[in-house]
Amino acid sequence: MQHWQNFIAGNWVDSIDVISVENPATGENFATVACASMADVEAAVTAARACVNSRELIDCKPVQRAELLYRIAAEIRAIAAEAVELAVLENGKRLTDAEDEFAEAARYFEYYAGMADKIEGVSIPLGSDYVDYTVYEPHGISVQIVPWNFPVSLCARSLAPALAAGNAVIVKSPELTPLAMTWLATACQRAGVPKGALSMLCGRGPEVGAALAAHRDIDQIVFTGSLPTGRAIMHAAAERAVPCVMELGGKSAAVVFADADIDQLMDSVNWGIFFNAGQVCSAMSRMLVERSIYDLVVERVAALAKGLAMGAGVDNSDITPVMSHKQQQQVLAKCQLAVEQGAILVTGGVAGGQSGYFVEPTVLRDIDQTMDIFQSEVFGPVLGIMPFDTEQQAWDLANATDYGLVAGIFSNDINRCMRGTRALQAGQIFVNEWYAGGIETPFGGTGLSGFGREKGQEALYSYVQTKNIAIRIGR
Ligand code: NAD
Repeated sequence: MQHWQNFIAGNWVDSIDVISVENPATGENFATVACASMADVEAAVTAARACVNSRELIDCKPVQRAELLYRIAAEIRAIAAEAVELAVLENGKRLTDAEDEFAEAARYFEYYAGMADKIEGVSIPLGSDYVDYTVYEPHGISVQIVPWNFPVSLCARSLAPALAAGNAVIVKSPELTPLAMTWLATACQRAGVPKGALSMLCGRGPEVGAALAAHRDIDQIVFTGSLPTGRAIMHAAAERAVPCVMELGGKSAAVVFADADIDQLMDSVNWGIFFNAGQVCSAMSRMLVERSIYDLVVERVAALAKGLAMGAGVDNSDITPVMSHKQQQQVLAKCQLAVEQGAILVTGGVAGGQSGYFVEPTVLRDIDQTMDIFQSEVFGPVLGIMPFDTEQQAWDLANATDYGLVAGIFSNDINRCMRGTRALQAGQIFVNEWYAGGIETPFGGTGLSGFGREKGQEALYSYVQTKNIAIRIGR
C-alpha cells in the first residue's frame, strides 16, 4: 500500500490519522494519505504568514516570479509521465485525459508566468497639484479548496495566478483524490518555491477545510466545489469579510435548432456529457431541441450512448467509473426520480461493469421544468432532453434554473446565435462546440454557479487588490 504525506512549509509531513484512497474502477483501497491535523493547519498558516511578511515574493522583480512559474511548468512536464498513472488509479479517469490534465496544469503556470511582469496599475489625472496612481498588491494568504473531479488542473488553475501575483497559498486537497496533485507540490518544491509560499494539505472537508476557511489569519478563499459547501465557506468568510472566488456547480443547457449540424452536435454531446463520466461542472446536462428534429436527435444521442464502451481509465475506455459508491448511488437515484416524475428513460439509468462504480451512459427524454432532473446537478453521465417550439421559449428554458455556469447554442444561423449569446444567462457561451475555449478564456458562473472568474487574464485580478496612491505636490 502506497503512503503519501502532506507538504507543509517546505517539508513532507506525516500524521497519525490517515485517509484511504480507493480506485473507483475496482473499489479497492490502494493507498493512504496523511490526514492533516489542526496543528498542521496552524503550521501551514504560520509558514504562509512568515512568507508574506518576508516579502520575498512581493518585493522581488516580477520577472523572478515569472521565472519561478516557468520552472514549475517545466517540472510538471518532467514528472507527468510518472504521475498520470496515479491520477487514473485514484480518479478512474482515462489515461489520455490524465495526460491532458497535467499538460493543462503546466500551461496554467506558463500562461500566468507570462503575466507576472505585466500586473500594471494606472495613472489617474487629478490636475497639476497631484500625482495619482494605482498598484496591484497580492491579498497575502490565499486558501484554495479543490474538488475531486479535476484535482490537478483545478489546483493549477488557482495556484498559478496566485503565485504570479505574489501570494502565499495553502491548498486543501480533496480527500477522494489527493495523490496526483501532490506531484504539483513536488514540482513547486523542485522549482524552488520559497518556504511557506505553498502548503498542500489533505484533510476532511468539514474539519480541515472548514478550519482553513474560518482561520483568523487568511486573506482570500478560492473555492471550487458544490453549492452546499460553498455556502458554508461563504458564511465563514463573512465573519471576517474575507474575499472569495466561488466556482460552484451547474445545470447547463445546449439549445439545438433545426438547422444545426447534427454530426458536429454528436461530437459535442460525447464530450459534453460523457467525458469524465459526466463529472464536469460545465457538463451539458440538459439539451433543448427544436421540435421538428426532436425525435431524430433523441435517436442519434441514444445510439451514441449505446455505442460507448464502458471500462477502466487505464484502457482509455469511453465511459469510465464515477468517483465513488456514494456518487454512483446518487446518480442512479436521480435517474430513478426523473422516471418517477414522468421523464422517459431512453437508455442507461443502471449501474454497469463487473466491479467498481460504473453508471451506464443515460439518456432521459421529455424532461420538463417541474422535474428535479431539470433543476438539480446530477454529476454523472446523464443527459435530459426536451423539445421547444420557439426561439424565445428555448432561451427561457435554458435560463430556467438557478445556476448559470455555461450554455451552448447549435445552429447555422449566425443572427440567431448572436441573439442567443445575449439572451443566455451564463458565464460562458459555446456556439457550435461544447467546451470551446481554453485556459485563456475567463470562466465562472452567475446565479448559484458562483462568482469571480478563473482562467484568462481576468483571473489574475482575482488574486490582487487595488491600492490607490494620491500625492499632493508641494508648491
Ligand atoms: P465538495 O463541495 O463536496 O468538496 C469540494 C472541496 O471542499 C473538497 O476539498 C472538500 O474536502 C471540501 N469541503 C467539504 N466540506 C467542507 C467544509 N465544510 N468547509 C470547507 N471545505 C469543505 O465538492 P466535490 O463533490 O468535491 O465536487 C463536485 C462539485 O464541484 C460539483 O458541484 C461541481 O459542479 C463543482 N465543481 C465546480 C467547478 C467550477 O469551476 N465551477 C469545477 C469542478 C467542480
